Amino acid sequence: MTLQLTGIAASDGIAIAKAYSLAEPDLSFEEKTIEDAKAEQARFEEARLEARQEIEKVYESALENVGPEAAAVFDAHLQMIDDPEFNGQITAKIESDKVNAEAALRQVADFFIQTFEAMVDNAYMQERAADVRDVSNRILAKLLGVNIPNAATIDEEAIVIARDLTPSDTAQLNKQYVLGFATDIGGRTSHSAIMARSLEIPAVVGTAKISQSVNDGDIVVIDGLDGEVIVNPTEEELATYREKAAAFEEKRKQWALLKDAETVTKDGQHFELCANIGTPKDVDGALNNGAEGIGLYRTEFLYMDSDEMPTEEAQYESYKKVLEAMGDKAVVIRTMDIGGDKELPYMDLPEEMNPFLGYRAIRIALDQKDLFRTQLRALLRASAHGHLKIMFPMIASLQEFREAKSFLEEVRQELEGEGHEVASDIEVGIMIEIPAAAVLADQFAKEVDFFSIGTNDLIQYTMAADRMNEHVSYLYQPYNPSVLRLIKHVIDSSHKEGKWTGMCGEMAGDQIAAPLLVGMGLDEFSMSASSILRTKALMAELDTKEMAALADKALNEATTADEVVALVKQAVKID
Ligand code: PEP
Ligand code: MG
Repeated sequence: MTLQLTGIAASDGIAIAKAYSLAEPDLSFEEKTIEDAKAEQARFEEARLEARQEIEKVYESALENVGPEAAAVFDAHLQMIDDPEFNGQITAKIESDKVNAEAALRQVADFFIQTFEAMVDNAYMQERAADVRDVSNRILAKLLGVNIPNAATIDEEAIVIARDLTPSDTAQLNKQYVLGFATDIGGRTSHSAIMARSLEIPAVVGTAKISQSVNDGDIVVIDGLDGEVIVNPTEEELATYREKAAAFEEKRKQWALLKDAETVTKDGQHFELCANIGTPKDVDGALNNGAEGIGLYRTEFLYMDSDEMPTEEAQYESYKKVLEAMGDKAVVIRTMDIGGDKELPYMDLPEEMNPFLGYRAIRIALDQKDLFRTQLRALLRASAHGHLKIMFPMIASLQEFREAKSFLEEVRQELEGEGHEVASDIEVGIMIEIPAAAVLADQFAKEVDFFSIGTNDLIQYTMAADRMNEHVSYLYQPYNPSVLRLIKHVIDSSHKEGKWTGMCGEMAGDQIAAPLLVGMGLDEFSMSASSILRTKALMAELDTKEMAALADKALNEATTADEVVALVKQAVKID
């Protein structure tokens, strides 16, 4: 039967393929007494070897799809599954306690997990607990005859269905086969959505129940334009979506013609269109979509895609790669924005009631200066290879900015003392994503070189509506006049001091917001690469004076977000 679910349109386009569910299988079992220990031990050994083969396959495909660093975790699993101590204890338990293999495996695995987790001073051993958990679940699944899904092994066209996708799940998706995805939770600015846009695959998030509504092999349509997911569509529905997909492809082709055109409004004003990236791999997509620079390089993915803190050398190589690939185009690299929804398994961050209001980003950097020093050293060394600008995230007060900036100077002197070449003209700016900083923008503007407005967070903090929580998504309002006034104040404050303001939150690539932002005089728009050409096409239709008048109305006459949207739609034809 056909089923239609509505969610949040997270990444443009339409995809149609069979479902591949990443839902965790049920691994519950009954503990039983057995008679024949030899037969039970043989059953365990057979399941272990099957699981081993599966890990080898996952390892090979991860190696091919995501590279040796991310694949290393499966190599650790192979070592664990061959561990004589672990396996010996399980077979011994089957013999001594006369229990079934499932029960013996669970008890021994729990013992190993507890022992490793108790080694609080040894991060390496603590991580082994996760390996035991993974390996024992995989063997258990074989004993129970169920499958553990893995995104990295998908080798035919599929739509991935999951409750949520972590950034590392998303990193394992091979675009050649994964045509789109849908999740239960998340919003337009959750990291799964951001990754979908950088992979340029259609996605719908926040459907609430897609993961319980789909079986492997069901045909699924992802409509990333209107936020719809259709499970087992009728022939007519399929035909309608195929037409819609073709029409969108046609538009995309038209936009593609603008790749090398200058970004100018109807009255000839230039605006800078840049791309947001998460890894050096995204640079190609940025350039292919005509990015004039990188307005935000989210360095935290470097930390999240690794099993341990990336070294200065590893970071330097990544930053250098991006700077070199972009040539003389500017690259704004943001220092680590860890915390919030971006966890690091090896870092042992505290459990918090409100992670988005907690220990994250610059707060961690200023508290753990060794980590910060490593990153700043890598950044400053890389500055010799291109046009680097450095940006600090989550700045709430001028003290924080001053402390970060003077630490950066200290690191620069240290490096120069060691004989390293460091560019002399690096602009240093901040993200404006906390209302306190937006309100004090006039004071910040005297000390920083630039602002980049992080609306993903600025909106959630202004409206007190968690950007990940679909229950309050109605309050997550980019066009609320309160948010618009903060933005205007930031832009005006920077201009008064001869500085510039960009925007790297998702709002910069939003077609309703762009006319307002043009009217408010935003200097740089940084967005998912896949939104650049569409925005360029829109800008060519806008007149800056008319947009200034439109923005003025939105700021001073509109009282709600809906009224703002109505004003924009009245004034501008949005494609
Ligand atoms: C933002 O908050 O708008 C932003 C760009 O940062 P992130 O989405 O990484 O929090
Ligand atoms: Mg942010």
